[in-house]
Amino acid sequence: MSAIDDLPPLRQVIATHGLSARKALGQNFLLDLNLTAKIARIAGDLSGADVLEVGPGPGGLTRGLLAEGARRVLAVEKDARCLPALGEIAEAYPGRLEILNADALDVDWATQLAPPRKIVANLPYNVGTELLVRWLTPPAWPPQWDSLTLMFQREVAERIVAQPGSKAYGRLAVLAQWRAEAHIAMTLPPEAFTPPPKVRSAVVHVTALPEPRFEADAAVLSRVVKMAFGQRRKMLRAALKALTPDIEDRLIAAGLTPTDRAEQVPIEGFCALARVMAKP
Ligand code: SAM
Repeated sequence: MSAIDDLPPLRQVIATHGLSARKALGQNFLLDLNLTAKIARIAGDLSGADVLEVGPGPGGLTRGLLAEGARRVLAVEKDARCLPALGEIAEAYPGRLEILNADALDVDWATQLAPPRKIVANLPYNVGTELLVRWLTPPAWPPQWDSLTLMFQREVAERIVAQPGSKAYGRLAVLAQWRAEAHIAMTLPPEAFTPPPKVRSAVVHVTALPEPRFEADAAVLSRVVKMAFGQRRKMLRAALKALTPDIEDRLIAAGLTPTDRAEQVPIEGFCALARVMAKP
């Protein structure tokens, strides 16, 4: 196996710094540097981009991003035990890696990076969905990122790329595909990680569109979709009853059938409803 850099192998890094994986932090590490470089390549040309990486851990993906030429990487890691190992990577790539010991949910990352910005991460499962929803729902579009290249449990990845009419179609699919293009770029078996998780994983690549596919207010659309899929087996008129007493009229005004269920409604339909809901 050819080395992507002159730093020690990750097993050695983990042993040297005592980085036993902690379940509560969603720590399933990628130790194959050829694999992490391959994931970094899914993000496209990194040479002219600043990258946010959430949860670098011992730094396998970080090293992949830097070896693939990322202009700068901001790595946000909650676990302070990882800092010495990450410090060694920063020394090997002078001026290109900044490490923040923080919770990614609290970090104002965009102000610290120059455009174009890409987000690349093997996300901790416990905050992955919340971070994704935040990245997908800024009030203005285009967002502060150009692309997201994110590792999720495969089931979550399938929800992001799902089409109407399928069981996996829901809030994540609508929010991801309304203003972006999303596809699964790679699937990985549990053995690719140390320790192996119980389920398969997948890398999703999301590219921001210059403008939304259909007009809608992000906050209103988010609220409508959350409620519609909150009770996905109910008909729309029942699932959305709490939004407004005249929901049936508004569904009809949006061109929707009040007796349909949320999973039958395409993104265009939800956007039409969000526009009708935004009216007094
Ligand atoms: N990137 C490494 C890799 O691919 O081997 C580690 C990935 S591991 C799935 C997730 C990482 O996220 C862990 O290092 C964990 O400590 C970190 N983490 C967990 N919660 C976090 C949070 N709220 N903010 C920042 N990092 C977090």
